[in-house]
Amino acid sequence: MGIRMFWLRKKDKDSSSQQSYITALKRMIDDNQESAFLALQDAVKSGGAPTDAYIRLGSLLRERGDAGKAVQIHQSLTVKTNLSKNEKIELFLNLAEDYAHLGNSERSARTLETAVKTLNIKDPAVFIKIGKQYHVLGQTEKAYEALKDAKRYGGIGDRELALYLGSSAEQLIEREDTKEAKKVLQRALKHDADSAPILLMLGDVAELQGDIDEAIVKWRQAAVLSPQLADTALHKLERVLYDKGRFGEIEKIYEDIRTARGGDETASLATAALYKKQGRTEDAIQLLEEYITVYPGSARGRLLLISLYAKYRDPDALERFLDDSIKQSWERKPFVCQSCQFQSESMRWHCPRCNAFDTFSTDYEI
Ligand SMILES: [Zn+2]
Repeated sequence: MGIRMFWLRKKDKDSSSQQSYITALKRMIDDNQESAFLALQDAVKSGGAPTDAYIRLGSLLRERGDAGKAVQIHQSLTVKTNLSKNEKIELFLNLAEDYAHLGNSERSARTLETAVKTLNIKDPAVFIKIGKQYHVLGQTEKAYEALKDAKRYGGIGDRELALYLGSSAEQLIEREDTKEAKKVLQRALKHDADSAPILLMLGDVAELQGDIDEAIVKWRQAAVLSPQLADTALHKLERVLYDKGRFGEIEKIYEDIRTARGGDETASLATAALYKKQGRTEDAIQLLEEYITVYPGSARGRLLLISLYAKYRDPDALERFLDDSIKQSWERKPFVCQSCQFQSESMRWHCPRCNAFDTFSTDYEI
């Protein structure tokens, strides 16, 4: 009789625990963290809650800022012998997250590595997390290895590996270890031969090592490849080429960029500025007038042309151009969907063409 009573009571306890657990899950779906937390506490208190309830309670504690308590709960579950594989994976990932929150990146990385080995995990997101912890620790080589694993399982590509190596080369350059930086950057180029940031840095390293010609080659490649980095690369090129009076070379580089990307603002205006510097005023004016016909919104182009008109044209022509520029500056740019380039006169938050939300801005995709 006594045993039977106990059994009944345990069964009651289990079912109340189950109820609290289910309530907690519902509240989590409703995004009601606070009451989900209370329900999970109830589920765990009465004893018979499933492992998942403990894991979730721990992660909620971590999110509330109590990573220490989260570690305790998660750690206590690791000794359970009846965990399913998925429960084990969840548990290890949560423990690693707890350690990361506590600032213990070393332990976080090792926890993930253990999980990967013992549970045969192939989720690239886990390898990216390992890489992040090693990166935080300054162990870039290990971080790189982890990212290579992430690539193996389809999480990232060669472009990202090259970019990562670029960041670690940047640290080496700051420490003036140009020899090692160059090695790392060359490894990056093997992943992505057309990576403009890597080429730009290789140019910097070459300059630091006194090899100006090599620096010019690399910066030039970067400027031709990337509209976003053209400005930076051209400034570097101008600095070394103007110094040496090699104007013909820099003009050729501007030309290459304009051939690669018709209408590149930086290269077009730099060419005009170069003409102006060389006293080729009419060439500069003609180039700018053509440019502004095609790209009327270029404020930099207009300013440069105004400075030329002020000196070389009569006041009436200058005034007409200024009036036109003022009118132009009031014209509103269309709003453009960043996913499908659909244009709209007024701001939108839903794209009627590609069905995306919050994709409109006034910026064009270059
Ligand atoms: Zn769209």
